[in-house]
Amino acid sequence: MAHLRSVLKYCALTALAVYGWLRIKFTSTPTLIILTYHRILPAQHSGRQCEQPGMITSPEALRRHIRLMKSLGAVPMHLDDWLAKRSSHDKLPKLVVALTFDDGWQDNYEYGFPILRSESVPATVFLVTGLLDTHQVFWPEQVLKLLTNTPIDTSRPEFHWLKPYLPPKSSPNSPLTLTEADSVIDRLKELDDKTILAHLSGIPELVAAGISSGQSRYILSNAELEEMAHSELVRFGAHTQHHFRLNRIELGSTLRDEIVGCLQDLRKFGGTAVPIFCYPNGDITPEGQHLVKSHYQAACTTKTGWNPSDRDAFDLHRFNLHDGNSNSAWRLFATLGRGIL
Ligand SMILES: [Zn+2]
Repeated sequence: MAHLRSVLKYCALTALAVYGWLRIKFTSTPTLIILTYHRILPAQHSGRQCEQPGMITSPEALRRHIRLMKSLGAVPMHLDDWLAKRSSHDKLPKLVVALTFDDGWQDNYEYGFPILRSESVPATVFLVTGLLDTHQVFWPEQVLKLLTNTPIDTSRPEFHWLKPYLPPKSSPNSPLTLTEADSVIDRLKELDDKTILAHLSGIPELVAAGISSGQSRYILSNAELEEMAHSELVRFGAHTQHHFRLNRIELGSTLRDEIVGCLQDLRKFGGTAVPIFCYPNGDITPEGQHLVKSHYQAACTTKTGWNPSDRDAFDLHRFNLHDGNSNSAWRLFATLGRGIL
């Protein structure tokens, strides 16, 4: 049965890959494909041990994606340039590929930027402006580090809050596997971000491991941002001030800070900043949507798909790529082909 399932899956993926390839090769009306990345980490990088697999792309895969898209005739372009061309009714290339990187990870500079440079490909990095040039760590990475390194004894008061979210059979004597810890992240999304961060700040192991105290840096520094900006290959968009999910914010003033304050923060980048918003986790409320539409020119979602030239600028679809769905040409085209489903 398992064998039959894997054969069927292979056939389905192959059909999607063929469709994805044909669609790219023979697209006849102006179309925009936005590729989304989070972390760029080499195969042996220690950071992979404490990261959700769906967040990581290898440098080799990033380079392969760029070369494959170019070889099929896709024109790499800044996302805001495509939007500007569309607004001014300029002739759009038949197929444009725009690269986006979410969150502003340090590894985007270390491992992604050299590839953008050598391939001469532009990209938009969506920054979490309140964390720039700091040693702060997003809560999912703190949770992963904690759960994969520390046995969780839920009789300890600082772990009480975590108990409902742990796998039912987790042992108090051994840490969780990465897969188990990844599932805890999903369940924790039931809580709001501030609550999770407050709980984590009371866990001595995280401080002792240097996660909260800044012995390692996950976020881009000012010097790295400056170098990327000067290259003219990288532009910066908005991804809130603190990466709070916007449907979990109760105070209107906080919602405004996260959306409008983030755009104000980006002003220090001058012409390298673009008024494009990116919803953390894809979440938004009608009030938040109104603020975004009042202050930005466009917004990227977590919806998967191709963008025809009449796509709503505040509902841009993207393909979130990682090693699990794009580590070969076949898998990449299958993922792009899935955009029709
Ligand atoms: Zn994000």
